Amino acid sequence: MERDFIDEEKIWDQLRKWENPKPADVRRVLEKAEKKARLEPEETAILIQNQDRETIEEMFALANKLKREVYGDRIVFFAPLYISNKCANNCRYCGFRGSNQQMERKMLSMEEIEVEIKIMIGEGQKRTVLVYGESPETDIDFISESVRQVYRTKSAHGEIRRANINCAPLSREELSELKKVGIGTYQVFQETYHRETYARVHPQNTIKGNFRWRLYAQDRAQDAGIDDVAIGALFGLYDWRFEVMGLLYHTIHLEETYHGVGPHTISFPRIEPALGTPDAENLPYAVNNEDFKKLVAILRLSVPYTGMILTARERPEVRREVIPLGVTQIDGGSRIGVGGYKTSQANELPDKEQFQLGDSRSLDDIVCETCTMDSLPSFCTACYRAGRTGESFMGFAKSSFVHNFCMPNAIFTFKEYLLDYASPGTRVVGERVIEEYLSKFAGEKVYGVIKENLEKLEQGERDLY
Ligand code: SAM
Ligand code: SF4
Repeated sequence: MERDFIDEEKIWDQLRKWENPKPADVRRVLEKAEKKARLEPEETAILIQNQDRETIEEMFALANKLKREVYGDRIVFFAPLYISNKCANNCRYCGFRGSNQQMERKMLSMEEIEVEIKIMIGEGQKRTVLVYGESPETDIDFISESVRQVYRTKSAHGEIRRANINCAPLSREELSELKKVGIGTYQVFQETYHRETYARVHPQNTIKGNFRWRLYAQDRAQDAGIDDVAIGALFGLYDWRFEVMGLLYHTIHLEETYHGVGPHTISFPRIEPALGTPDAENLPYAVNNEDFKKLVAILRLSVPYTGMILTARERPEVRREVIPLGVTQIDGGSRIGVGGYKTSQANELPDKEQFQLGDSRSLDDIVCETCTMDSLPSFCTACYRAGRTGESFMGFAKSSFVHNFCMPNAIFTFKEYLLDYASPGTRVVGERVIEEYLSKFAGEKVYGVIKENLEKLEQGERDLY
């Protein structure tokens, strides 16, 4: 077998070595994590294997503290746009898989993308992730054109300012094309880092059957000049403890190969039931809520400078508990059928979707709730547009930049949301939150700038950063 950065025996040795660690061992790791250092695999293994209630609570508390220290109290909002569910692969857990006869196939035309994007903009979205099945029709020309279409669609108050991509692993040449059309993050989930499981759920006669082609997708993106890359694992396919170690090894590999630039974000979706897909249910490795909370906190402690995405796959009550453990980005108002924004606006029945959405509340409801969770909703896309990505983003993330730029930008973009899209109730709650965060800058040089920009926004100016 070719050697690569996932060494299964080594991972299991590390997990076995630290079965049931002593509280003192856990606290030693927490002391290091508190200094915002990326953890080594053995240290993460200690946290994974910790069964002691008291120190687990300490892990949760520190994860929350680190998140607030590194990212501020911001929660960045986005929403997915499903472009096509045509797929030549046959991933056993996914409703889009080619052999699923119950799925109606649909691929948006450029005009339909425009319609969807206008609805999204009208709801207040500024940032999206475009999602594609893997099919010859959604080739690189189509993907590039769809990104252009997203950026050129304008509406009364705005536009999508950042389009991330979640599609099949691409070649270096194809990724160079994506770089040219100005994508934000290139996101590919490995699904599982365990080869045997990977081979079982991804039939070998499909493109996705190639584990290594997928494992090095982010490397090819970096080589093609895309320095915002994202990783993820689909939890429920194999032992969550192994997958967390896999995500950490992937992070370390990228950091070591690309001058300290690890993944921009990590995603940790859990498998949801999907239409015509019995293999997405009754999973032997399904992750329960308690372990899910633990794994999110462990990722936060292990990679303090990486964004963490929690999607609307999760139900509202789970999101409320998990967000404080280190999440930096959530989606709101998401529709995951192809053409789903239009059908939901027309009050039609949702199309056949990839999986069942756990949180189908409106963006406004979720924004309003976020305000009550000691957090500031943000629609900021400034770093990406100012070219602060990859290596330079990591530098900025590690300084007072977050306080002096990210928090004010969060305030400005949230103010825009309140002025242009919020319901009256959310506006009242939101204005209070803005006042509260503004007061945290009292006496600082930047206070005047924030006040001035808030006034400009009131007077109709937009997109200030
Ligand atoms: N086709 C591309 C691929 O597989 O990478 C991108 C689109 S695919 C729809 C995006 C992600 O959806 C997959 O990487 C997988 O992790 C996730 N997914 C698939 N089936 C799922 C399910 N039943 N529940 C939750 N997430 C699922
Ligand atoms: Fe296709 Fe992606 Fe679904 Fe697999 S996960 S069936 S590649 S859409």
